[in-house]
Amino acid sequence: MKEALLTILRDRHTSMTVFRKTADQLADLIASDAASCLPLDPIDILTPIGPCKGKCVNLPVTLVPILRTGIVLLAPFLRIFPNAQVGFLGVKREELTAAAFDYYENIPQITSDGYVFLLDPMLATGGTALLAIRRLLSHNIQPHQIHIISILSSTPGRLAIQKAHPEVRLYSVAEDPSLNEAKFIVPGLGDFGDRYFGH
Ligand code: URA
Repeated sequence: MKEALLTILRDRHTSMTVFRKTADQLADLIASDAASCLPLDPIDILTPIGPCKGKCVNLPVTLVPILRTGIVLLAPFLRIFPNAQVGFLGVKREELTAAAFDYYENIPQITSDGYVFLLDPMLATGGTALLAIRRLLSHNIQPHQIHIISILSSTPGRLAIQKAHPEVRLYSVAEDPSLNEAKFIVPGLGDFGDRYFGH
């Protein structure tokens, strides 16, 4: 299902309305995949009939969307993790060089048992994610606490992150082999933000 939704996103003929709806559907599936990688704690509860041993997510979860496109993943993740705290990182790519620079940061206190989901739909060069990881590390968050959640990644981007931070975990629906001169993912889906937000 995720591959079929991604194919709609990739198609250049997909309208903004359909792109949005499809990205939102895909984000719901990604959020539920992300939840299934978290360890569960045992819990004793009572059903209307009697005692029952159940499972629960007992870890503090922090969601950090990278502005602006990470916002697309935020609502689906909040539906799965309604108690999560939310931080924000503003990172932009320089138009000409594609170099990442940060312009906004609001990171809450994160304890050493917490999980951080860094939300960034397109992992191209990895420059944005690397900068975001650096910002999180400066708040004493450990690499193994960080999960980067993307819709589409590139092989060079994934390798750059794995080389710099082997303990950071990466999730992506698909990985494309290369980047073009403008550092867009090939074949990719074009500019995710422009297609989702309409400009
Ligand atoms: N950001 C996008 O939106 N698309 C790419 O291909 C790369 C970065």
